[in-house]
Amino acid sequence: MTALDLERLRSEGQAFMEAISRESYLAFAGHKKTAELQPIYQQYERVLGVEALELTLEAFRSAPDGSDEKRSAQVLLEWEIESQAAKPLAALDEREIAWENTAVVRSPDGRVVQYQAVPIEIGNTRDRSLRLALDAARAKLVANEHAPLRLERLQREKDYIESVGVARDYNSSFEAVTGISLGGLAESCERFLRDTKSMWDDTLRGALRTSLGIKASEAKRSDALALFRASEYDDAFPGSEMESVMRRQVNEMGIDPTARGRIIFDVGEREGKRSRAFCSPVRVPEEVYLVLRPHGGQSDYNTFLHELGHALHFGYASSEYAFEFRWLGDNSVTESYAMLFDHRMQDKGWLNRYTRLGANRVGKFLRTAGMEELHFLRRYCAKLIYERSLYSGEVSWSELPDLYVSLLSNATGFEYDRADAFVDVDPRYYSARYLRAWQLQSILNEQLTRRFDVDWFRNPSAGPWIVQELFAQGQRENAEEIAARAGAPKLSFDPLVRKIEALLEA
Ligand SMILES: [Zn+2]
Repeated sequence: MTALDLERLRSEGQAFMEAISRESYLAFAGHKKTAELQPIYQQYERVLGVEALELTLEAFRSAPDGSDEKRSAQVLLEWEIESQAAKPLAALDEREIAWENTAVVRSPDGRVVQYQAVPIEIGNTRDRSLRLALDAARAKLVANEHAPLRLERLQREKDYIESVGVARDYNSSFEAVTGISLGGLAESCERFLRDTKSMWDDTLRGALRTSLGIKASEAKRSDALALFRASEYDDAFPGSEMESVMRRQVNEMGIDPTARGRIIFDVGEREGKRSRAFCSPVRVPEEVYLVLRPHGGQSDYNTFLHELGHALHFGYASSEYAFEFRWLGDNSVTESYAMLFDHRMQDKGWLNRYTRLGANRVGKFLRTAGMEELHFLRRYCAKLIYERSLYSGEVSWSELPDLYVSLLSNATGFEYDRADAFVDVDPRYYSARYLRAWQLQSILNEQLTRRFDVDWFRNPSAGPWIVQELFAQGQRENAEEIAARAGAPKLSFDPLVRKIEALLEA
């Protein structure tokens, strides 16, 4: 066999990523009950061998700072470490996927609900005692069966990353290979939580009283699902029209919503489909799946827009770019494009044009959207702070559930359950990517507004510009670089706070 060099690593790496993505897509979309990941890891053994890791480490250490080689070596190293860590965990992942695809919860009213569909059921249950009982049954199942799998995965992943020796521990090795300062981000999160605390307390108290008829002191996490499901607006967001509305908007922006057939919409109900929507780039840019399991109403429009932003990003990535710039890089970037689209649900002009809300309900809806935005931002800030403790090793595994409940409950005002402490963790600090994406999205929206006006989403010049300046670039640049290109000095929560204040006063 010929020796491994960066060129071969790229081509074999891409084939490996395609195989893993296809298998995950089939299992998560409910086409297959199980995922066979281990044979893929065996087939692409060389991509994840010692030689490959040394090659990327060497390239990372020797490339001159600020060069394209450095940029490329950094993302290849990050991917190599992540994939190497995932390899010995493939058997565990297969077990988890099989479990999630078959597990059921017995609802207190006698029905059998698939584990994947429980959040949908909880959000749609108006009878509070039934909602709480269903969530209690879910939490018991999680504590007994799901949480142990996730805890084992977290522990083994942490041990592996620390054994590679890029830096002294998990957190500093993440910072070294991504260039993201976890400490800096956690500090901004703490400031954001402090600055918006009284605004959040007031907003939540009123919403719980009027929408759910409960006191703030008794609110549980399952009540949050019912509150943000906002079913009173269902008639304004008909499921039957969703796909055609989205296609129309992208057409009006001057681009093809399927990127000439490269994007495939998979948005129907299917048993075994994940309740959390996702975009699966199986080949970038040639074959991209947008997968959504309908929950109903405004939340489906929100997730459709989000996944559409990802799908357009991958579907329009330049095929000229090397594997790492199309497939890898700072996921804060793709998340910011997804959020740029889902934030149209906070955009009066968009709502008036593409939904049936009508002029007299749009103000109230925008206040609900502002509340939802503030809730999710506060939740993700708390998650980042929690996950940083989890990976730091300074808090023992057995003490983490109490820390999780206290951080998340305090930030959101909803009481969380200890059972979720290891299940509600975004792997490899994905929460940091989301938070940075939130910040970048507001910068991009301002840039598009300056260039194409407040209704950029229907300006036929905006789409082609977005494709060329943003989507085609894949993830060659990181979030800071794109912000700088848009003329913003830095990523911060400040514009988001101002936007939320305006929404709450709409
Ligand atoms: Zn996303």
